[in-house]
Amino acid sequence: MSKAIYPGSFDPVTFGHLDIIKRSAEMFDEIIVGVLNNSAKNSLFEVEERKDMLIETTKGFDNVKVISFDGLLIDYMKDNNISVIVRGLRAVTDFEYELQIAQSNRKASKGNVDTVFLTTSIEYAYLSSSIVREYARYGTDVSDFVPDYVEERLKERFRK
Ligand code: ADP
Repeated sequence: MSKAIYPGSFDPVTFGHLDIIKRSAEMFDEIIVGVLNNSAKNSLFEVEERKDMLIETTKGFDNVKVISFDGLLIDYMKDNNISVIVRGLRAVTDFEYELQIAQSNRKASKGNVDTVFLTTSIEYAYLSSSIVREYARYGTDVSDFVPDYVEERLKERFRK
């Protein structure tokens, strides 16, 4: 059975992420969406909230599973018998960072882990979680960027 992990912060999940999830779910038997529980990064949503939004918005895919992990991705992968990472590439600005991470993951896992890149669908090329957070903070409509469920969670967050 082919299995891959799609790791990220997903703070919050956007249509860009969902596009990568949909396309990779067609390529692999199982896609594990891995929410990084990174205490060093200042996130808007707690890891459980980010996970909840992903579970809700990927309900339509029966081969997508959402988990969270802390520590090193390659350790999680080893413990769970996963050898492929899926990442999305938007622009050349993503490239250098992604290349470095992919190469170091391959090296540190002694060649057991490889990374597959999907290029963004052109309509989402500009889209990032940080833009969504910034717009939502100032009450700008984000319905073109995130599903309704996520938009509601953003509204609740900034109402407080
Ligand atoms: P990270 O903090 O690890 O960069 P993100 O949640 O921002 O996590 O992104 C997770 C993955 O999704 C990354 O590979 C990123 O390049 C990709 N991604 C984010 N937004 C888009 C988009 N609009 N189109 C395609 N891929 C995207």
